[in-house]
Amino acid sequence: MQKSILLITTGGTIASRETPDGLVPEMDAADLLAFAPALARHYQIHTLELMNLDSSNIQAEEWLIIARTVAAELPKYDGIVITHGTDTMAYTASALSFLLHDVKKPVVLTGSQMPIDAMLTDARNNLYTAFAAVEYGIAGISVAFDRHIIRGCRAVKVRTMGFEAFESINAPYLAEVFADGLHSYVPAAVPTDGPCVQLRDGLCNEVFLLKLIPGTNPRVFDMICAMGYRGVVIETFGAGGMHFLRRNLLENLARLTGRGVAVVACSQCLYEASNLSIYEVGTRLLECGVIAANDMTTEAAVTKLMWALGQTQDPEEIKRIFFTNYCGEITL
Ligand code: ASP
Repeated sequence: MQKSILLITTGGTIASRETPDGLVPEMDAADLLAFAPALARHYQIHTLELMNLDSSNIQAEEWLIIARTVAAELPKYDGIVITHGTDTMAYTASALSFLLHDVKKPVVLTGSQMPIDAMLTDARNNLYTAFAAVEYGIAGISVAFDRHIIRGCRAVKVRTMGFEAFESINAPYLAEVFADGLHSYVPAAVPTDGPCVQLRDGLCNEVFLLKLIPGTNPRVFDMICAMGYRGVVIETFGAGGMHFLRRNLLENLARLTGRGVAVVACSQCLYEASNLSIYEVGTRLLECGVIAANDMTTEAAVTKLMWALGQTQDPEEIKRIFFTNYCGEITL
C-alpha cells in the first residue's frame, strides 16, 4: 500500500526563484511536486504550505509553529517531509528534536543548494531521499541530504556551495542511499495505535552564543547579563578552555553564573567531544558553574538551552536536562 505522507513547505532555496533582489522563496508545494513527478506515482501526498521564508528568517517563533503543526498532523499520516532552507536547517532540526518527544514516525527535513527549477539541481534527489526515509520508517526527526539521512540533532551545515552540505557530527548516519536502494542502520518504525508524538512546548529566545577568540574582553559577560540574556553557550578552545591570564574571563563568567544565567560550554572543534576536566583552563570553568556540552553540536547545545529555559527557571533542573540524552544529541 502507498504511504500517506504530508509535505510541509517552509521556503528555502529549494522553493526559490530568481528576482532582481536575488533568490526569493516563491514556489508552493504543487510547484515543487511538479518538478519531482515520480513522487506522486509512489506516494499518497498531502500538502501544507506553512510559510515561505529564507531560513535566515526562521527563528524560535517559526520552530514553535512547525513543532505544533507536526504534533497535530503526524497522527494522520505515515510520516512528514518538511522542505526548509539549508542555512538554518540544523537549528530547526535540533529545536524540533527537543520540542517533540517520543516521535514514533518519520519527520524528515530536506532542502537543496539549488532551486528545484535549476537544470543541475540537487532538490529532486533530496526530496526523493526524504520521502524514501518516510517509506522505510526512519522514525524521529532527521535531515535528508545528498543521499544521507542524518539524525536531526546531529546535523550541521558544513558547506556553502557543495551538494554534500550536511554532515552527521559525532554520530553515524541513520541511513544512506546506494545503487541498490536505501540502507537503513536503525530499526524501522513499528506501526502504533497509541500516541506517535508528544509536544513539549516552550522556548526561551534569550540565549546568546559566544565564540571565544584569544584575547576576548571579559566585559562581554557583563554586557550579556545587562542585555537580559538568560543563557549563554560558549564555544571554548579545543577540549574546553578559556583564558584567565591578563584578561581573566573566569572572574566575569563566575559573576554571570552567580546571577543565575545558565552557561553551557562546548568546543570550537566540529568533531569529537569537549572535556572540561583535562586541563586547568577547563577545570576552572567547571568551578564557575558551567555546564559541559560534551559531544553536542553547537546547534543542539543552543536549542537545548533555549528549550530547557522554556521549561524551567531552576538552575539544577537546567543541569539535569543537559545531562539527559533526549534524542541522541549527547553521548553520556
Ligand atoms: N538562504 C537559503 C535558505 O536557507 C539557502 C538554502 O536554502 O540553501 O533559505
